[in-house]
Amino acid sequence: MRARTRTPQAACPQCAMVSRRGDSSHERRVCDTAVGGQETVLHLRVRRFRCGNDDCGKRTFAEQVPGLTVRYGRYSTPLRTLLQTIGLA
Ligand SMILES: [Zn+2]
Repeated sequence: MRARTRTPQAACPQCAMVSRRGDSSHERRVCDTAVGGQETVLHLRVRRFRCGNDDCGKRTFAEQVPGLTVRYGRYSTPLRTLLQTIGLA
């Protein structure tokens, strides 16, 4: 599945300052829970923002989709939770 975000702003993960200054975008590949028994891979286009806080060490950061993605994560949050549950059982 292909998807893209439309959020006009995102909070810097380091200083929490909200930024509306989009810098660029890139596509992430995120494995999600199966649909109809079939493997699901999201080709998710997310934006990169510039942090406006001069005192912050982070110049740019990629937006995350709450409840779906985490930084550097290749699995969606629901799939990661499912795999952890199976692993612990
Ligand atoms: Zn920042």
